[in-house]
Amino acid sequence: MFYAYPVAAPDLSGNELEYVVDCMKSTWISSSGPYLDRFEKQVAAASGVEHGIATSNGTVALHLALLALGLQPGDEVIVPSLTFVATANAVTYCGAVPVFADCDPQTWCISNNSVNRLLTPRTKGIIPVHLFGHPCDMDPLMQIARSKGLWVLEDCAEAIGAQYKGQPVGSFGDAAAFSFFGNKIITTGEGGMVVCRDPELASQLRLLRGQGMNPQRRYWHEVLGYNYRLTNLAAAVGTAQMERFEQLTDQRRRLAKWYSKELKSAIGTTTPIEARDARSAFWMYSVLLESPEMREHVRTQLGARGIETRPFFYPNQCLPMYQMSRSDEGCAISCDVSSRGLSLPSYSCLEQGDVQYIASEFRRAAVSFRGSTGRRAAA
Ligand SMILES: *Cc1c(COP(=O)(O)O)cnc(C)c1O
Repeated sequence: MFYAYPVAAPDLSGNELEYVVDCMKSTWISSSGPYLDRFEKQVAAASGVEHGIATSNGTVALHLALLALGLQPGDEVIVPSLTFVATANAVTYCGAVPVFADCDPQTWCISNNSVNRLLTPRTKGIIPVHLFGHPCDMDPLMQIARSKGLWVLEDCAEAIGAQYKGQPVGSFGDAAAFSFFGNKIITTGEGGMVVCRDPELASQLRLLRGQGMNPQRRYWHEVLGYNYRLTNLAAAVGTAQMERFEQLTDQRRRLAKWYSKELKSAIGTTTPIEARDARSAFWMYSVLLESPEMREHVRTQLGARGIETRPFFYPNQCLPMYQMSRSDEGCAISCDVSSRGLSLPSYSCLEQGDVQYIASEFRRAAVSFRGSTGRRAAA
């Protein structure tokens, strides 16, 4: 299906091509090289921490971080119900058990009250996900973690550039994972990174990323390691993206402002909020419709006009491989939000006129849903 307005599209209009050509000409196309060092420093700096360890994607960044944090089979980790499945899968890869917390009805991020209800003696850590770019309420969450001796791994895959109380996401937990997939705010095609403050954790992450080989002794492997490295070629794209970090993140916020202005009056529609103390990165501009039926109607109508939209993630405990998992009483809020949520085209090249067009089609679809249900009720 071709969409005039896809839900996401990368902006590669900076130095991306030049740096990739530089890699090719220099033959530094594999997993060491100057762009890797630059990219790791850029992302760590944007997260307000010292160390960046680039990985081949965001899923393995989460897995690597959990391994380095010492997660063991049978341990429990509290994750949000409403997230991309990679968050829970990374826990499962370690033989550990994801336990699903409900979300906050306003921000759709993990609910700290729900986290409190799920704690057991087997709980080892929490993975807050800054969903769709909105930061989680980190102060109370860190307080829970510190008082119980738990680690915190921030899933920042959707939220590079977001802030909580003026401080960048990725700087609150013991470690944080980023994704640079093609639809993320900063992209390398496929790619990821773990960032952290602790130099010892950083060396452990580097060791495990590179097959567990002792950095002083070639082919001496003391631990079970992985090949989770990123290429210099991909990092070249990332370096160019990070040069435009401010521009790319500002454009997302501007887009959200335009959408909210246009959609505030749309019937049966709740526009996304930005909590006090929060600066959202607005990865995906997302709204709630009045009912699941209205969501489907609007989605179909927009699709027919070449506007791609995306439903929210399913609550993870509803997915076949997680339906036996423990969750906070079925996570009623996540289930409700998941059934009514819709993400609209969100990428930095969209102009105000595009947003006005998409929003006018959206309002028309919302009105036509009301019309159709009105007729059905009358019949
Ligand atoms: C995209 C994403 C990931 C995984 O990243 P990949 O690079 O696709 O492996 C993990 N968590 C969340 C919340 C994501 O949105």
